[in-house]
Amino acid sequence: MAPRHRRLLITLVITVLLTSCTTGDNGVWTQPRAAGTLSASGTGSDATASGQGGGGPINGTAKPRPSASRSQGSGLYPVSPSPLSSATSASPSTPAPPSPTLPNNAHGPAGSLNTTGSDAVALTFDDGPGGNTGQVLDLLKQYGIHATFCIIGRMIGDYSPDLIRRIVADGHTLCNHTWSHDLNLRTRSEDQIRSELQRTNDAIHAIVPDAPIKYFRNPGGNFSPLTVSVAASMGMQSLDWNVDPSDWSRPGTQSIINNVLSHTHAGSIVLMHDGGGDRSQTVQALRTILPNLQSRFTLIPMPD
Ligand SMILES: [Zn+2]
Repeated sequence: MAPRHRRLLITLVITVLLTSCTTGDNGVWTQPRAAGTLSASGTGSDATASGQGGGGPINGTAKPRPSASRSQGSGLYPVSPSPLSSATSASPSTPAPPSPTLPNNAHGPAGSLNTTGSDAVALTFDDGPGGNTGQVLDLLKQYGIHATFCIIGRMIGDYSPDLIRRIVADGHTLCNHTWSHDLNLRTRSEDQIRSELQRTNDAIHAIVPDAPIKYFRNPGGNFSPLTVSVAASMGMQSLDWNVDPSDWSRPGTQSIINNVLSHTHAGSIVLMHDGGGDRSQTVQALRTILPNLQSRFTLIPMPD
């Protein structure tokens, strides 16, 4: 090859490389929203009204995601220290662009599922197993309702393995909610993310070896293209939500009831909590929520 042609070729290769790394074409380089660009004053109820949903009980900070304040841990499951945590706790400004391969209910952050894809409504319970998981299972059984349980791996050892066995035996769907509930999971390396998910699946499968775990829920709903893609590589779809009563913050039983009943529509995925603290308000609210929703919707677990 003539030197001039070689130079042209090298220039062309460099140009292509630079372009592919800066335009976000591959879905991984999407520019995250800078921390603090959203109001940090948003509460779960705001979030619910906007369809964004709430976060979780872990650090006492609700949605809307993304919010820099969500990375401040003071709760039950401390967030692991990270040099990246203060700079990269925010979510992308918009969900990942639609892909022809994504189902039509993948409109949550980074292409996560935020509706059921049908008129049916799915109840999902996070942060268990916990001290109220048995009561939640009792109520679901009483009404003949199947739900989805998003399990925190490190909590499994604190409770009877019978709770995990019951979730499966009763016909509920399992979801991986990571090992340590790291709200900054999106800032970790691919290996760290994979480890959080694998360790949880291993802990579940040590109790129920053949149970499918088809879903992943990012702590706090802080999905990123990387956490979603790692989960997908392990056979798990990312599961967001669009109804969030912030029950983890114990706003009062009536508040939980009113929020869920007024915001649930055909196709909704409802987020509640069976673990992560005292969930007696949630249990009490379910006594009203379950028969009401059952009279208005078909209630399903997310499909296996
Ligand atoms: Zn959670």
